[in-house]
Amino acid sequence: MQHAVRASALVPRGFVVSETANDGDSTLITVRPTSEASACPGCGTRSDRVHSRYRRHLADLPISGHPVRLMVLARRFYCHAVLCGRRVFTERFDADVLAPWARRTARLEHIVHHLGLALGGRPAASFARRLMVPVSNDTLLRVVRRHGSPRFIPPAVIGIDDWAWRRNQRYGTLICDLERRKTIALLPDREPATAQAWLADQPQITVVARDRGGAYALAAAKALPNAIQVADRWHLMENASRAFLDAVRRSMRQIRAAIGAATINLDLLTAAERLQHEGYLRREQDNTVILGLAKIGVTIKDIVRSTGHSRGLVRRIVRGQRSDVFRVRESSLELYLPWLDERWAAGERNGAALWRQLKTQGFRGCLRVVTEWVGRHRQADKVDGALSRAPAARTIARLLTIERDRLSKSEAVTVAAIEGGVPLLVEARGIAAAFHMVRKRSSAVLEPWLERGQSSLLASFANGVLKDKAAVAAAITSLWSNGQTEGQITKLKLVKRQMYGRGKLDLLQARVIGAT
Ligand SMILES: [Zn+2]
Repeated sequence: MQHAVRASALVPRGFVVSETANDGDSTLITVRPTSEASACPGCGTRSDRVHSRYRRHLADLPISGHPVRLMVLARRFYCHAVLCGRRVFTERFDADVLAPWARRTARLEHIVHHLGLALGGRPAASFARRLMVPVSNDTLLRVVRRHGSPRFIPPAVIGIDDWAWRRNQRYGTLICDLERRKTIALLPDREPATAQAWLADQPQITVVARDRGGAYALAAAKALPNAIQVADRWHLMENASRAFLDAVRRSMRQIRAAIGAATINLDLLTAAERLQHEGYLRREQDNTVILGLAKIGVTIKDIVRSTGHSRGLVRRIVRGQRSDVFRVRESSLELYLPWLDERWAAGERNGAALWRQLKTQGFRGCLRVVTEWVGRHRQADKVDGALSRAPAARTIARLLTIERDRLSKSEAVTVAAIEGGVPLLVEARGIAAAFHMVRKRSSAVLEPWLERGQSSLLASFANGVLKDKAAVAAAITSLWSNGQTEGQITKLKLVKRQMYGRGKLDLLQARVIGAT
């Protein structure tokens, strides 16, 4: 049994086909509405008293690979409501079928809108051509803009952060409704005044989550003095770690003294480090000679003459300003050391295999760097407890903060030496660790923490926290954080990249905020 396809089933709901014609590439379908009456836009009264007829030309979905033009035989009606100011009105259809004044049926407009949202202007236009939907670049963008901002729901809890139009050059601001998990505004810059102006229009906002301190804190304080500000937990933790690393850097002299960097096991050095070590030995020798001469009363002038070193250098050495210690540069492996240590602990000993896996993680160094690391690690495992060398600050910070049982033997010895020799650093480590309360949500410990922190190596970090105390306290207790805002920024970057950098703010806004 076969059903014939009725022509009227192909046109929008509420119309019947009265005529079809083909003119070359496109199909012209003439339709008339099925309803007898229409509602007056002024008063809502339905009327069936026809005043006159007119034609509306619209584009509709393509049929069988041909664009379709729709001609609607529409009517004008009289409004007979006594109190209505309108005497005559044009026929209205359901807005989800045919909007007043529209040039496209709602179902076509819907597709055009979503093409624009998904692909932006030009790529969407060329794709639309393939779909037999004749729509220009400009029209697409206009449709996206027109539908761009869905009904604005005034937010109560927002996250605010900056995002890069072009890194290091131009920044904008993204505002996210944290309750509805949606981006609700893009601002053209990250000036406090711009953010303040936007926030001031939203007095219903009660919570503002933002990064630490800075411009947004100021803007929010001015625009919404009663809103609770929440410092971003992730940034806080990140800053605490950085503060500890800085403390390690500032303590390197004591650290080197503590682990006796003078007793260097040459077998554990890389080739480059061995060259550096030779230079270091030469300098140490010069220091000894010059200091010896100065001690027995030889004048600087005479030391310069007899040793051939410059006057400035000799003076610095005599004043004790060049008692340098052998230092190791941070290597290209530094970033990957935690991962390497893990693989090593898991029993991986093949340098080439490790190198191949590192490359997939973005490591750019050559194979030799990795095989040398493996070699040194083998040695370090063999050398029972011998101190090798002073590692770089970042490595020390890491060794000091990872769990004990993940350290190799020689690392454990290094850590023990530092802990014995630099008690201030041990204290700083404890204070940095105590800052994890921010993540663990245990409030009421902030006050004593601040007191401890301010008299430690982490003083400048602690002072920063003190300045932003209310927001940090809120970060500990509040449910809200800016993590979600960062996710929205990632989404925005994706859309921006699709637009090949040509997107203007309003279009970007329409695509980010309009997309669901
Ligand atoms: Zn009326």
